[in-house]
Amino acid sequence: MGIKKEKLHKSFNPEKYKMILCSGCRGTGKLFDGDKGVKVCSQCGGFGWVKKEEAWDRKNG
Ligand SMILES: [Zn+2]
Repeated sequence: MGIKKEKLHKSFNPEKYKMILCSGCRGTGKLFDGDKGVKVCSQCGGFGWVKKEEAWDRKNG
């Protein structure tokens, strides 16, 4: 009751932080895991966005 939900997505500006939409989950933060249902995306940790540099590292490495 004392904790308000942060309206992250309303004020969040990914370009300001040089972040891009997570390619693993396409920004949803979740991955469909067969019959287990949905799990948290490991690339972005459920955030839905990743830093450009990190994304490039994964892409190249
Ligand atoms: Zn993700």
